[in-house]
Amino acid sequence: MGIDLKLEHTLFPGIEDKRPLIMAGPCSAETEEQVMETARQLAAQGVKVYRAGIWKPRTRPNAFEGVGSKGLPWLKRVKEETGMLVATEVANVKHVYEALKYGVDIFWLGARTTANPFAVQEIADTLKGMDIPVLVKNPVNPDVELWIGALERINEAGITRLAAIHRGFSSYDKSEYRNAPHWQIPIELRRRIPHLPILVDPSHIAGKRDLVMELCQRAMNLDFDGLIIESHCNPDKAWSDAGQQVLPEHLGYILKNLVLRASNVDNQGAVTLEELRTQIDKLDDEILGIFEQRMKVAENIGRFKRDNNVTILQSDRWDKMLNKRINTGLSKGLSEEFVSKVYSAIHVESINHQQKVMAETKEEKQS
Ligand code: PEP
Ligand code: MN
Repeated sequence: MGIDLKLEHTLFPGIEDKRPLIMAGPCSAETEEQVMETARQLAAQGVKVYRAGIWKPRTRPNAFEGVGSKGLPWLKRVKEETGMLVATEVANVKHVYEALKYGVDIFWLGARTTANPFAVQEIADTLKGMDIPVLVKNPVNPDVELWIGALERINEAGITRLAAIHRGFSSYDKSEYRNAPHWQIPIELRRRIPHLPILVDPSHIAGKRDLVMELCQRAMNLDFDGLIIESHCNPDKAWSDAGQQVLPEHLGYILKNLVLRASNVDNQGAVTLEELRTQIDKLDDEILGIFEQRMKVAENIGRFKRDNNVTILQSDRWDKMLNKRINTGLSKGLSEEFVSKVYSAIHVESINHQQKVMAETKEEKQS
């Protein structure tokens, strides 16, 4: 059964309610200049809602933990000079009061806060009677109930301008993403609370800027309502999350090139497709990892041949091996043509790796 949250139609007062809703800004407010420069450049790209972290929850102590309250007047200046709405993360009661004092328009709860019902309840109690948009990031662990619980606590406090942010989930397994997207979880949230807007945070899912654009597109393909993207006027020099922030100009390029289409696959179809694509991505990663290992073995063979004066190419071995692979391939439903093409390419690459090993030693011997 669906969950009945009481929601206002418009999420951000004064901002046109057209999809996708876009929020952008640096991971952290660092200096007044960086905050203002990034804001001016983003406003020039048409961004209407500015994000910047003032208090940063960090995994380890002694990392940059945000500038704290001294950054709040900078956000006020952003509002005054660009007309954008400003948003920041609040993780405790003090943050809420401080941010309100300086006119912060929108709050979000970070992933680590959503995972803690006591913290969420305290914030909810503080927000009672206010009309301010609140965005709730998913908890770090892939638990849709905990996410829904946090949304309910905030909604029960009377907050009706409410949305969720999907920022991916921590996992022990290494993958190409910093936080695994598990798209089926935000889609389950949508199924459970159909009228709740869901924004996607491609920056924290990706962890690297090269993946941000394709994640934005995926979010649109899955029909989510908006994007919150980290952008910085000098991303490489950012004090937090440097690898995943994009230049405002790059953000403008991403937004201009987003393909928005009325999907002809229903939601369940889209999830299935995303899941299948995720499986393909994972298998391809594994295939490449195995190629890497195979080339390392080829290099060891190269070293052996070098030390024992054996030639690299031994065609009888190669012939036998190829026939064996073709037969194994046939038994697995792979055509002879495919297996022989793949193995010819692997063989050439192996020889190149062996040759590299031999060349390296020649140079070493000369020097
Ligand atoms: C952030 O938005 O910069 C942040 C700390 O995000 P999260 O809570 O998703 O880790
Ligand atoms: Mn960040």
